[in-house]
Amino acid sequence: MIEVRDLRKDYHTITAIDGVSFHVDRGEILGLLGSNGAGKSTTIKILAGLLRPTKGGVFLAGYDVIRQTLESKRMRGYMPEFPLLYDNLTGYELLYFIGQLLDMREEEIKERIERYSEAMELEDHLYSLIGTYSKGTRQKITFIMAIMNSPPVLLLDEPTAGLDPRFTRLLKDWILSFRGHGTSILLSTHITAVAEDVCDRVAIIHRGKIRTMGAINDLLNSTGTESLEEAFVQVVDAVEGRDERAYLTSGE
Ligand code: ATP
Repeated sequence: MIEVRDLRKDYHTITAIDGVSFHVDRGEILGLLGSNGAGKSTTIKILAGLLRPTKGGVFLAGYDVIRQTLESKRMRGYMPEFPLLYDNLTGYELLYFIGQLLDMREEEIKERIERYSEAMELEDHLYSLIGTYSKGTRQKITFIMAIMNSPPVLLLDEPTAGLDPRFTRLLKDWILSFRGHGTSILLSTHITAVAEDVCDRVAIIHRGKIRTMGAINDLLNSTGTESLEEAFVQVVDAVEGRDERAYLTSGE
């Protein structure tokens, strides 16, 4: 459903992605776990058809994202890390506009807006200008935009960033429910607890390369650690040539 083959992206002299390959099956959630600057957003933007790779292939639901960009865009919902929303529209107007762009029928657009805004507890804000929204409310509307037409693929870039615990829980439940309906989901995060809660498999990405990938239990076994956080620190420190326990003994 999602396939990435030997992906590379150079920004002038910086290599942001260097030989990344992975796939996400139908009804599976793959977490891209990485520190700031690891290359998560670049990978997701290429899959969303917003950035051209320097090299490699990316496919969504059978469409080649580079050669069939428009068709592939219809297959995916994308939740950017920093959404650019139209501040002078109301939430309702924006969602209606998105539904029209997606060629949805009018009744279907109205039904989805009603259902999702109720589920996300957005009703109080639906008719206010987006410019007045809090960070959490902007996240909610961005998530609804991504799921409006129930696409077979969801690309979620740091979906829980800046959210309160209750909405984080709600969003995670929605993500799991989409997986239950067969959606293929790629989710980036730097929060290990989010990856533990929802991901079937995790790819630890650091300095543009996938350093290890697998089911969380397999990652713990292969690193001999007891938590994803520990495994992550160990993998990143190994790349950086750092002794993971040095900070505990320094100053002695
Ligand atoms: P974060 O968690 O901070 O969002 P990330 O894992 O999403 O980080 P990217 O945003 O993909 O990482 O960045 C990967 C690398 O590419 C970083 O070194 C970043 O500085 C660089 N980079 C990203 N966008 C650009 C750009 N437009 N021009 C030049 N360099 C860029």
